[in-house]
Amino acid sequence: MPLASPYAGQRLCLATHHGKQRALARPFALGLGATLEVCDCDTDSLGTFSGEVQRLDDALSTCRSKARMGLERSGLRFGLASEASFGPHPAVPLLAVGQELLVFVDLDRPLTLLEQRLDWRTNYSQTRLGPEQDPSAWLKQVGFPSHGVIARPLNQPEGPYFKDLTHPGALQDALDACRGLDSRREVWLETDMRAHCNPTRMRSIRRLGVALVRRLGSPCPGCGAPGWGVVDRQAGLPCRCCGTATDLLAVEVWGCPCCHLQLPRARRDGVEAADPQHCPWCNP
Ligand SMILES: [Zn+2]
Ligand SMILES: [Zn+2]
Repeated sequence: MPLASPYAGQRLCLATHHGKQRALARPFALGLGATLEVCDCDTDSLGTFSGEVQRLDDALSTCRSKARMGLERSGLRFGLASEASFGPHPAVPLLAVGQELLVFVDLDRPLTLLEQRLDWRTNYSQTRLGPEQDPSAWLKQVGFPSHGVIARPLNQPEGPYFKDLTHPGALQDALDACRGLDSRREVWLETDMRAHCNPTRMRSIRRLGVALVRRLGSPCPGCGAPGWGVVDRQAGLPCRCCGTATDLLAVEVWGCPCCHLQLPRARRDGVEAADPQHCPWCNP
């Protein structure tokens, strides 16, 4: 356990009922000496992936609400919650992308810290299945059965939804039931993005946990509060030949969530100039 950890020996509340402690407990124990306590909040009331409850808010405020809900229920001073949203990439609509968020709340200092990552390696996908159609190819693509799927009768968006389908037998039963309920015997299939049914997402949450722990272990050079880390990345790395600003990363801005001190820093890889192939002047 790192001696400098501001959270050594502390209990942190993790608001989840999708088993996210499996991904997060270790990084917090090893990196900060803190113990995660699961607060089994009914986070589904804040919106789910499978569409029965409309998402009331964007992912970030849902995530903050979850963390605060956990703190209220548990009476603890430190809380953690994760949330994700999935959809087509804004610039490349054929590509699915996942945005994973992890929010940490410290009521004592007080501070709120957000770590996030954009994930291309998501299995997020949906398909419609005709009356006699075989779903094998789609199932292979989305990683079933290690990754769960959800089914419903195609023409009944209100459901019923068949969840926790992580076994070929259970899936077959659900497909039969959906076809029986659908006027055209068609089925809607989608990937189950809940963490406990989606190992790809679980890995993504673990990576985010490691990044958050590293940041919580870094004190601000100004006020000493935990959470010193990158808050902004600025493009404009100059071309090696002509000095024109390129689209490549030039500066990382580090910041403190408490005193809001910010310091620009050069790239961590030491690169100070861009190859002319990235230059809008040398290689338009
Ligand atoms: Zn500070
Ligand atoms: Zn140039």
